Amino acid sequence: RAKAEHKSAQRFHDSEMDARLLERDMIERELRAAVANGDIQPFYQPLIDLRTQRVAGFEALARWIHPTLGDVAPERFIPVAENCGLIEDLSYHLLRQATRAATSWPDDVVLAFNISLLQLSDKTLGLRILHILGESGLPTQRLEVELTESALVRDPEAAQITLGALRDAGVRIALDDFGTGYSSIYHLRNFKIDKIKIDRSFLRRVGEDSDASTFLGALLGLGHGLGLTVTAEGVEDAAQAAALAEQGCEQAQGFLYSDPMPVDATLAFIARQSGAEKARKASKL
Ligand code: C2E
Ligand code: MG
Ligand code: MG
Ligand code: MG
Repeated sequence: RAKAEHKSAQRFHDSEMDARLLERDMIERELRAAVANGDIQPFYQPLIDLRTQRVAGFEALARWIHPTLGDVAPERFIPVAENCGLIEDLSYHLLRQATRAATSWPDDVVLAFNISLLQLSDKTLGLRILHILGESGLPTQRLEVELTESALVRDPEAAQITLGALRDAGVRIALDDFGTGYSSIYHLRNFKIDKIKIDRSFLRRVGEDSDASTFLGALLGLGHGLGLTVTAEGVEDAAQAAALAEQGCEQAQGFLYSDPMPVDATLAFIARQSGAEKARKASKL
């Protein structure tokens, strides 16, 4: 009986694997077409300056709305793109769109763009990013590259060269999802980083539970002790924002302020937030 159960569990396991492989296959096929047609577009989520409530920047987040599959999450297609050699074309397409959008924003609003650590092994990455910036006319100082952990850094030396070239040109480097992934602190020591983005898992219970706030304070202390700017991700309510501001966190990002939005909505959002700042100042007079 145990044997039979084991067998059926095994069969279930196999069919689940098959389904996963099939899905991956299908996504790969659809992704090839989507990348070729430019069907994947960036949406933009604001980064808010916690002192002024103004928009400090927007993070570009890839959005793929497929006619039959619906909304496909980046967590499903980015890893596939990395594995089948589509990530370069996809990234450059997204960066071209996003830099074009960013040139319509005020000069103090930066563009944050995600690059996976895997992509850093490509020695031409730095030059290609700078080339796309040059074409768009967006100053290098207005780009912030967010490093996301996808897999091990295949070629740490190439990664250092790429990041060095970007930084020398004035691009800022942020470490994404800080605190998760086994090598966050390691990357902090080995790469020259300007900013950390505290992962949203550390925001849970902040503002309600003192242990959560203590832990957050320690992460902020680490960042500030190293002279870095700190952004908190996944800010969903006002109590979290208040706790962050009180602890000296520079920037916040999350559903409290806005979901990622299409490019057409970005200018109105910037205006709305500077209105919020004016109202705040007026109420203090
Ligand atoms: P990320 O860079 O850490 O981006 C933040 C993610 O958190 C986004 O998910 C965003 O929609 C979500 N988020 C924002 N505010 C909140 C909140 O208040 N609560 C919660 N629960 N979630 C929030 P999204 O857009 O699904 O992207 C997931 C990940 O996919 C990104 O994480 C990034 O690692 C990757 N990604 C997205 N676009 C690109 C891209 O163009 N290139 C690369 N390499 N990776 C990308
Ligand atoms: Mg990011
Ligand atoms: Mg993140
Ligand atoms: Mg993430």
